[in-house]
Amino acid sequence: MNMRGIGMTSARTRQRMVDRLRDQGIVDEIVLAAMYEVPRHLFVDEALASRAYDDVSLPINYEQTISQPYIVARMIELLRDTERPVRRVLEIGTGSGYQAAVLAHVFPEVYSTERIEPLYERSGKILHKLEINNVTVSYADGSAGLPEVAPFDGIIMAAAAPAMSAALREQLSVGGRMVLPVGRQEQWLYLVEREAQGFRESRLEPVKFVPLLMGKV
Ligand code: SAH
Repeated sequence: MNMRGIGMTSARTRQRMVDRLRDQGIVDEIVLAAMYEVPRHLFVDEALASRAYDDVSLPINYEQTISQPYIVARMIELLRDTERPVRRVLEIGTGSGYQAAVLAHVFPEVYSTERIEPLYERSGKILHKLEINNVTVSYADGSAGLPEVAPFDGIIMAAAAPAMSAALREQLSVGGRMVLPVGRQEQWLYLVEREAQGFRESRLEPVKFVPLLMGKV
């Protein structure tokens, strides 16, 4: 893969994407810098590369999609919007690996799970090629989190569960945050914050995600 040539031409395109994210209300400079750094076109089929920096979700096969840049930036900004350091983060739904790559630029330690084997394999390869070494991808059903690595300072879900999961939020450290879509036809983005005693839940904005599914395939 010749990444240099593509990188040269896409730097300007990525800058335009970042300008658009600012217009859409993303303010966290660390998140904007990470969105600028990650070459999104390398995470989609070559035939779609020319649309990689548009604010759209794109197919990545197996009926899955890479999320639109705005929602990736928005969710990561929400994870970071706290006084305390966020070190260890879990993503459920690696998909193309794009969001995991952005997370890797923002947080020191990233875990990501994917239930579809070919997506798991492909995402691992591209992350390796980009020399992103602080992401551990597992081939696993992540709907119950990753108890062997928990607790996490942040959990981010890239697929929508029909209802809020109680098991997952137990894997948050105190002060930790989880950002996730919930619902079936009608979905909302939620922020869950773990406090010393209990959880605070906020419903934020309508969203559209692929469904969280059970089991590995
Ligand atoms: N973050 C991804 C978005 C992929 S779409 C990206 O940047 O490309 C959501 C992904 O969640 C799909 O790949 C889907 O297979 C995966 N998924 C759905 N249910 C899951 C589950 N229970 N465990 C792990 N991954 C799951």
